[in-house]
Parts: sequence; C-alpha cells; structure tokens
Amino acid sequence: MHIHEYQAKSLFRKFNIQTPVAILINNTENASKACAELGCDVWVVKAQVHAGGRGKGGGVILCHSIEEVENACNKLFGSNLVTPQTDAKGLPISQILIEGGQNIKRELYLGLLVDRQTQKITILASTEGGMDIEKVAAESPEKIIKFGVDPLGALTEDDCVSIASKLELEGELINQFTKTLLGLYEIFITKDVNLIEINPLITTIDNNLLALDGKIDFDDNALYRHEDIAELRDTSQEDEKENEASKYQLNYISLDGTIGCMVNGAGLAMATMDLIEHHGGSPANFLDVGGGTTAERVAKAFELIQTEANVRGILVNIFGGIVRCDLIAEGILQAIEKVGLNLPIVVRLEGTNAPEGLKLLDESTFNIHTEADLTQAAIKIVELSA
Ligand code: ADP
Ligand code: MG
Repeated sequence: MHIHEYQAKSLFRKFNIQTPVAILINNTENASKACAELGCDVWVVKAQVHAGGRGKGGGVILCHSIEEVENACNKLFGSNLVTPQTDAKGLPISQILIEGGQNIKRELYLGLLVDRQTQKITILASTEGGMDIEKVAAESPEKIIKFGVDPLGALTEDDCVSIASKLELEGELINQFTKTLLGLYEIFITKDVNLIEINPLITTIDNNLLALDGKIDFDDNALYRHEDIAELRDTSQEDEKENEASKYQLNYISLDGTIGCMVNGAGLAMATMDLIEHHGGSPANFLDVGGGTTAERVAKAFELIQTEANVRGILVNIFGGIVRCDLIAEGILQAIEKVGLNLPIVVRLEGTNAPEGLKLLDESTFNIHTEADLTQAAIKIVELSA
C-alpha cells in the first residue's frame, strides 16, 4: 500500500526526521490562510498523488506570491496529474501540500528496501538525488552507495556516520543524517515497510538536512497489525479495476498489452503471460481467478478484461485440479451469456474432466477456439489478436 507525501512526512516527524513546514489544504479558498500561517515568502505547491515524477508532470510549482499559490491551486485541484510514473489518464488531485520554499544547497537520495538476493535490508544513498535518480541508477550505478543490514542485527550509529561521509556530509550535518537514517530504519522495521525513500534529502544554505519528499510502500500482508497505517489508505489513487476485482477475490493487475488473460493460480498466470510474450504477443492484464472458481467470478473476470482499452483477444487457461473442467466450461458459457463477448477467445482446459469441458465449449453456439495444449493456445490467441 502506498501513502501520500504529506502522510509520509508526518510519519517522518514522529521518528525525528526533519521536514519543511507545510500545511495540507483541500480547496483553493484555504490557500491564502495557509500561506500566511506558514510565514514564508516563497511557497511550493505540491499535488498529492500516489506517483513520483510530479515535478516533471507540473505537480510541484514554486510560487513567489499568494496570488501565484492560488493560481497554482486552481489549476491543480480537480484535475488529473500525469507524470512519467502514471498512465496517460493520470491520478486525481484532491489534496495539495503548501510547503515553505527551501534554499537548497544539495539534493541527496536516501532509501531502504528489502533485497531478496542478499536477504538483507539494503540502504541506498547517493549524492545525485533529485528528479533524475532513475537515470543515475541506469547510467552511472557507481554513484549509488549500497549498504546491507542483517535484519536480525541492527543499524549502528557508526554505520550511519560511514554512509554520511560517503555522501560528503560534514560537521553537524553528520548528526542530522544519523538521526534521519536511524529514524527511517525504525519506520522500516516497526511498520513492515517494503520500500521507504527520501528523494531529495536536501542540505540547505543554512546547513540543515531536510526530507523534501517522502515515499513509503507498506507490505499489504502486514497491514492487519498496523491499524494506524491502514487508515491512511486513499482508494481514489488506486486502480478502479483492481479494487473492483478484489471485491470478488480476483487478483487483477492492468497491463498495457492486447491479450486479456484469465488463469487459475498466480504461477500459471505468470507462465501464461511469458508464453504469450514468447510467441510475439503482449498481455493486457494479470488475472488469477483463484482455486474455487465460480461462474459469478468468471463472469466478473470477463467483464473486467473487456474494459481494458487495448484488449483484442482473450486467452483462458484453466488447470482443473480441485475444480472440474466441465464446471469451468459451464461457468465460461454462463459468463459469456451474461456479459457478452465481442472478442476472439481461446480456451485451454487441462486436468479433471478436460475432454468433457472442451466438448461443451466446442458444441456451444459461441465462437470459442478450444485447445488442450498451452503452447498451441498461446500461438492461436496471438494470431487472432494481431
Ligand atoms: P517528485 O519527486 O514527485 O517530482 P518532489 O517533492 O521530489 O516531487 O519535488 C520535485 C523537486 O521540486 C525537488 O527535487 C526539489 O528540487 C523541488 N522542491 C520540492 N519541494 C520543495 C520545497 N519545499 N522547496 C524548494 N524546492 C522544492
Ligand atoms: Mg521526489
């Protein structure tokens, strides 16, 4: 689960990480009051959406007067922000953070994530923070400092000081950095975080270290034990289809290809997507309909797949282990009857009662291509969706 920048910063402050003064507003009418309360003469208007790259997308606006702040808010409120990290539709802006403009000396990067390969919590840091950190990582990976911490051990002050020196921090800034990194680590451990990031972590002209941005991704599976974090969820920022799917216990993720996939089991779904790619196609979605598939769930799945803008064909790949393939076939037929079908469809059934299931589909009045072999099914759907 992702949260907004203002929510991340409020958590930062609770863990002794310094952030600039800021006030969150929900409409332009509150802008001038917020500016006055902050007592600055330069403000930064920051759209709160669950995506990075807001600066590049026009969602971070530097303002030198209250009038400029109001104009920026008017422009942003109610619109969708498109950034290099969103899709073409973007994300809705209903909250804006007005922040005191900072005199930035340096922009650093600091992040923590779980590195499954080394089985450690990995601290990533760089002197080249700011809006192009992805480019730095791709083109000059030597500029990214990596430091692994054993999750059963601890991060020490000495570790922090050593990373601070690699970031060329000096004097009082080393103490501030140590506090910041220990705070981030504490949040990471106590709140079951997948990824936490400050980009940029700035030093100011008057020698302060501040978190100018904040991104946190929490482990969904651990949310049950963090009510305070679960409360921060903002569903307006999440994919409507994925939310709708989860109501039916379907695991659904929109992708940008042309072949809709309906598969039971996450592993089989991944393998099916690989096979589609292998034969020159591209999946429009990931969908795991789960083990005990019902006709109602199959119908919902069809509905969701057919709302994908680019979808040109559907591949159904079901392995009947617990469920019987003839029941699945009946479910598919009922679903098509209910929601209609205007795309080519290939169905591959394997497992218990597969021949009976395939026969039911072949005998139906709908134009369904059946296959017993997965490779043949993938080749067929790529051909029909071209
Ligand atoms: P994003 O990463 O989504 O683009 P950031 O919050 O990192 O959004 O802001 C982008 C850039 O805008 C920062 O790298 C920084 O240069 C500038 N910026 C953001 N907040 C402030 C601020 N309070 N004062 C001055 N500059 C800021
Ligand atoms: Mg940023």
